[in-house]
Amino acid sequence: MRFDQYSLIPQIKENLSKKGLNKPTDIQFKSIPHILKGEDVLAIAQTGTGKTAAFAIPVIHKIQLLKSKKRATGIRCLVMVPTRELCIQITDVFNDIGKKTKVVARSIFGGVEQDSQINTLTKGVDIVVATPGRMFDLISQGHLKLNQLEILILDEADQMLDKGFYHDIKSLQKHIPKRRQTLFFSATIDEKIKRLAYSLVVNPIRIQI
Ligand code: AMP
Repeated sequence: MRFDQYSLIPQIKENLSKKGLNKPTDIQFKSIPHILKGEDVLAIAQTGTGKTAAFAIPVIHKIQLLKSKKRATGIRCLVMVPTRELCIQITDVFNDIGKKTKVVARSIFGGVEQDSQINTLTKGVDIVVATPGRMFDLISQGHLKLNQLEILILDEADQMLDKGFYHDIKSLQKHIPKRRQTLFFSATIDEKIKRLAYSLVVNPIRIQI
């Protein structure tokens, strides 16, 4: 199977081909069709497996289609990540694979002043990639509104739990629609991660790489 055989918008295929990405990796092969269908995913996959593109490809496809059908405003997809480095890296992957589409991804992370991030959020962002601390600050101040959210992604969930964000992540559910698609990625799994995962996903496709 090659990316050109997938039912994806031409811009994505062109961007992947320009980056020399022609064949899906294992995690991409196993998850992309399910994510396109709108199913929840619970994946155990390490960094280096191609997991970022595994969610970025179908999410950009879906949001671009949505934007071509209706004037979609508001954040459609939130990606929660444990570190600022990962945050920037994932935003870059979204914007790279989403070149020549109308889909805009932006980063939100702590350790820098808030104002430019707040300003960015007023300019029509479809995908927000965020670290938990700054994200909850902006939610509580009313700058980050997630009532239009359609897709929630947790990446490296085990690392977020290590950093003590269990209760924050659980409380996120108060701020996002109940009807949504949830994609949960973790490098490792134990009882606590499972409990968190199953409080967020519904009938997930389970993938272990
Ligand atoms: P990740 O696991 O998301 O951190 O990705 C690890 C690396 O794999 C990145 O440098 C990607 O550019 C690369 N990569 C992602 N998908 C593919 C693919 N289908 N074929 C070859 N390399 C890929």
